[in-house]
Amino acid sequence: MLDEKIIGRKFQERYKKLVETDNLLPIKISEFYMKKLIEEIDAIGVGGPLYRSVIPVKDKIELKTRGETRDYVEEDKHNPIENCDYIIQKYDNRLVFIITDVCFAHCQYCFRTYNLSKFQQSNLKETIKNKITVLKEYLQANLNIKEVIFSGGDPLCVGYENMKFALEELKQWDIRVHTRAIVYEPSIFTKEMIKLLKTHNVRLVFHINHPYEIDEVVEEKIKEIREEGIRMYSQFPLLRGINDNSKVLVKLLVKMDELSIRPLSIFIPDPISYGAVNRIAARRIEKIIDEVNWNTPSWINSIRFVMDTTIGKVRRENIIKREGNHIVFTRNEKIVDYYDLDEGIDVPSDINKLLWKD
Ligand code: SF4
Repeated sequence: MLDEKIIGRKFQERYKKLVETDNLLPIKISEFYMKKLIEEIDAIGVGGPLYRSVIPVKDKIELKTRGETRDYVEEDKHNPIENCDYIIQKYDNRLVFIITDVCFAHCQYCFRTYNLSKFQQSNLKETIKNKITVLKEYLQANLNIKEVIFSGGDPLCVGYENMKFALEELKQWDIRVHTRAIVYEPSIFTKEMIKLLKTHNVRLVFHINHPYEIDEVVEEKIKEIREEGIRMYSQFPLLRGINDNSKVLVKLLVKMDELSIRPLSIFIPDPISYGAVNRIAARRIEKIIDEVNWNTPSWINSIRFVMDTTIGKVRRENIIKREGNHIVFTRNEKIVDYYDLDEGIDVPSDINKLLWKD
């Protein structure tokens, strides 16, 4: 049980029940992140941006809106091998490899919440060795696949030896590693780990959601990784209560630019169960996009705002129909429905709370 100062006992128990019945992720926070969280709570009380990243708030349980599903992206419909949930393929030339179901901390907004909790009872428990054997066989039979994207869970959770094994076995393919370890557990990037990632020419994609997640320790670690010449990129979600203001986004993007992290994508949160708490109304998303695009130089605004769907990533320019809350996107002659938040749910966050240190 966490301290009452962080989350009330009764609410914690209520949330715990939902973990068991509704496949929510248990609260899990690394010691490193907890220190920053306490600093935030001491300064502004509960409910700040780092708080909402890892601690459930009442609205997470109580807010519901139309069109929510457990897995909007339908990852389990994209497993190319039957009964093999750790390989997900949506594009011809690349696939996602769920190397682990473990994370250093649990993000309250995780779009993979449902699947992640399902993975914990599935064949993801197979050894890395077995999983790599299956993956390699599939890759060798599908020569158009050039890139393997390590995801999870957090791929860095597998530790040095497993990572070494995986990278050596897969050295014929481009490897991309998506991770939040840099903000939750930067110490995992030991000199040995950094060398390993460098040796295998890995692309590191950091998921950093807020400028305050980059403290001095994180910054030093990113510089250490940069010194080795590892290519670093950023991808993160746009989240109400965490970064739903162009000022926060610009501050974060500028900071990452200073650290040579190249911008890839900002993700619009999926309409998933228990996700309304973090979602933003479509019209406000478009306003935020315009504010970022019109007021920043191109090395900042080159980041793309995208939404992941079962037909692949779509953008604002892929909208072909809007009728009330119903929005239709198209890609490659396929269409996908999206339901905007019900009226009154999206209340913009207070910028003084989002950027309380400034
Ligand atoms: S680290 Fe990634 S996979 Fe793990 S809970 Fe956070 S978003 Fe989900």
